[in-house]
Amino acid sequence: MSRQTQAIIHADAIIHNFDYLCSLAPQSQTMVVIKADAYGHGAINVARILRNKAPAFAVAITEEAIKLREAGIDAPIVVLEGPHQEKECLQARDENLTIVVHDTTQLEWVKRQTPTQPPGIWLKVDTGMHRLGMTPEDAQRALTDYSQIIGDDCVLVTHMASADDTDNSATANQLDKFARLVKQTGLAVSIANSPATLGWPASHGNWNRVGLGVFGSNPMHDASYLSRVQPAMTLRASVIALRHIKAGEYVGYGQAWQAQKDSIIATIGIGYADGYPRHCSNGTPVLVNGQRAPLAGRVSMDMLTVDVTEVGQVQIGDFVELWGEKLRIDEVAACAGTISYELMTRVSPRVPRVVR
Ligand code: PLP
Repeated sequence: MSRQTQAIIHADAIIHNFDYLCSLAPQSQTMVVIKADAYGHGAINVARILRNKAPAFAVAITEEAIKLREAGIDAPIVVLEGPHQEKECLQARDENLTIVVHDTTQLEWVKRQTPTQPPGIWLKVDTGMHRLGMTPEDAQRALTDYSQIIGDDCVLVTHMASADDTDNSATANQLDKFARLVKQTGLAVSIANSPATLGWPASHGNWNRVGLGVFGSNPMHDASYLSRVQPAMTLRASVIALRHIKAGEYVGYGQAWQAQKDSIIATIGIGYADGYPRHCSNGTPVLVNGQRAPLAGRVSMDMLTVDVTEVGQVQIGDFVELWGEKLRIDEVAACAGTISYELMTRVSPRVPRVVR
């Protein structure tokens, strides 16, 4: 390997965070959401790390589940979006996947493709998110109309729109709406994502579905939750060049940063093509040899530049942490005007994931 740019995946942190989230909901089973390559941490890595702990995994789409099966992951897998096309029903049955069905079109596909031996089916109910799911009335009707393919082990699934805000009554409203349907059907339920697991005990169902919390970022508005989880990824790179510039000189594309005094600029081997956000420019902190230093100028495709004037001794090859244990991804995401979910999932395939 030539470049020292890596995403180090901390297995201990993943295990710690999973155990912590499970401890909040002792009556629930907790599945780990490893869609989008486990939010950038590597779905196969995470499935292996949690192999003897997590009772199930969830992915967004069938292809993600099949990759896990090809890697020998035989744990139960729930496909959260269900089939996008009819042919996926056979794949789901053959690969022993459980599909979350959100529309009767999908039920028709299952009925046509696998009438006698369907895959496991869970039903998605829209209680206010208005993205996927049947109305509670349609869900109840589907349970009757498709009883030949929906088993008694069907789980009713809903998704919270605003669980990150414990003051927002929308979550209580969603829970109320769902509770009425659940009472009528008597089926098992799956409601809570990470924020709901942390902040809404009433949402803990038979199955919770946690992603971000396992990866050690704070899914809540309230920053005090951050210390409860440990970061599962350290994104690091190294110094590849150093230069002294004079007061008044500029750095990078568009001359977006001007030195206020004679300064030392370190060029770091990571850029937006690696997934470091281009919106993080002037002032966003990085850690150079463990010390905070601000970005100077715009992030380029393969490199970024940092003002290390105050850092002291810096040499080519020194490590730079872009986010991780001492510089939380949540802070970097705020500098980029986005959320940590986006930063994690955008770390590009060019960055090797190294499990420690
Ligand atoms: N359930 C569904 C349907 C989701 O789409 C997601 C993530 O987007 C999750 C659970 C996990 O959410 P979180 O990462 O906040 O735990």
